[in-house]
Amino acid sequence: MEKGLLVVVSGFSGAGKGTIMRELMESYDNYALSVSATTRAPRPGEVNGKSYFFVSKEEFERMIDADQLVEYAKYVDNYYGTPRQFVAEQQERGKDVILEIEMQGALKIKQRFPEALLIFITPPSAGELRSRLIGRGTETEEVVNQRLGRAIIESEGVETYDYILVNDQVDTCVKKLHNLIQASHDRASVHMDIIEQIRKDLRRNEYAASNI
Ligand code: 5GP
Repeated sequence: MEKGLLVVVSGFSGAGKGTIMRELMESYDNYALSVSATTRAPRPGEVNGKSYFFVSKEEFERMIDADQLVEYAKYVDNYYGTPRQFVAEQQERGKDVILEIEMQGALKIKQRFPEALLIFITPPSAGELRSRLIGRGTETEEVVNQRLGRAIIESEGVETYDYILVNDQVDTCVKKLHNLIQASHDRASVHMDIIEQIRKDLRRNEYAASNI
């Protein structure tokens, strides 16, 4: 069975990533969404083990030391990281594993796994971003401003990503995301082993022919 792909999805805070991830998981069954560990406090309605694994700073640092995280980053004073075991298991089962993570983590993934697919989701404009963050109603004014400040920095690393998806219509965005991931199964880097095998066989053939 073909091993699943590693797919990183990032985007400005307030780009609508959460909704897109939910729709993607509901619409197709070949994806596994990684659940991150974080030291941030749960927001109302967030469930431990589903939205995140909510852990203390000490627990998080133990996970780093025990090499249990594929990557981790500090974001607005909290740690966020991707548990290694789930990712590896799901990829072995042929599932494409989606990591919904911020840019520092995304860049680490790209360094460690060059074949990973990196997708950045953006709203159509800055005004839309601000109103979505305020509309969410879960953040204080201070956190909204911190997140908008961070968005300026994040817009500077975005050229490392393979694709940018503009989210002005959720359904369309989800379909595009699915199509991009599916097409990536046939990227040259994924199929190089087949080409290597064909080359080997052809060379053997050439040798055999020259000995007739
Ligand atoms: P939030 O606090 O809004 O849930 O998440 C803040 C940021 O952390 C988001 O950009 C989210 O994608 C990112 N994030 C969530 N989990 C991880 C993770 O495991 N690793 C990294 N590097 N970022 C994460």
